Amino acid sequence: MRQPLVAGNWKMNGSRASIESLLDGIKAGVNPDLTTEIAVCPPALYLQQVAESLQGSSVLWGAQNVSEHASGAYTGEVAPAMLNDFECRYVIVGHSERRALYGEDDDTVARKFAAALEAGMKPILCVGELLEEREQGVTEQVVGRQLDAVLNHSGAAALGEAVVAYEPVWAIGTGKTATPEQAQEVHAFIRGRVAEHDATIAAALRILYGGSVKAANAAELFGMLDIDGGLIGGASLQADEFLAICRAAG
Ligand code: PEP
Repeated sequence: MRQPLVAGNWKMNGSRASIESLLDGIKAGVNPDLTTEIAVCPPALYLQQVAESLQGSSVLWGAQNVSEHASGAYTGEVAPAMLNDFECRYVIVGHSERRALYGEDDDTVARKFAAALEAGMKPILCVGELLEEREQGVTEQVVGRQLDAVLNHSGAAALGEAVVAYEPVWAIGTGKTATPEQAQEVHAFIRGRVAEHDATIAAALRILYGGSVKAANAAELFGMLDIDGGLIGGASLQADEFLAICRAAG
């Protein structure tokens, strides 16, 4: 039985004040009986505030990015051990915005994945195709290539400590969601690809869907066999909406 996970990716949004009220709203609305694991990923600068606020609650936290390097002359970067210092459970790696806007290729993502794992955190590995790739019918080649980069670098056992998020790029922040059937097809492909290496790890692997998930569409997506929760962008910035999504997964 895979425990559902809903993780909020706040991206570059928030202030001390807005984060305080968002966290208050989330903490007030979290039902202790909820079976969904919940995590929020604030901008790195606010990790201390989030860690202090969520300490003792059932809500976990993580980072949106991590350096592949341990320490040294990497201006502007945040090392894995620094995130661990703030008790991050999760680290998002390979988000499509990082791939598209900051030139992170599959090898860089694979190194970041390994660095996060080595520091004791669970990477949330994002994979997903562009609209033109879907239209060309190469979704599985693209997602397979992104996954293989990590499998080849870290081995299948590493995925036993990680989470995969399927995020079709055309669905992120666009209001367009993959249909539950479209998402399920790719989730099953991902699980199958991992199963070629290790069937036990594949069966236990949590695969999240991300891309314009809202309270209104969450339940039908999460109802699919291989969808184990969601990585939520815009809708994670409102406590009520985020909590409704968490409930839909539980
Ligand atoms: C994301 O950025 O990971 C994401 C899924 O964004 P949104 O929910 O806003 O589409």
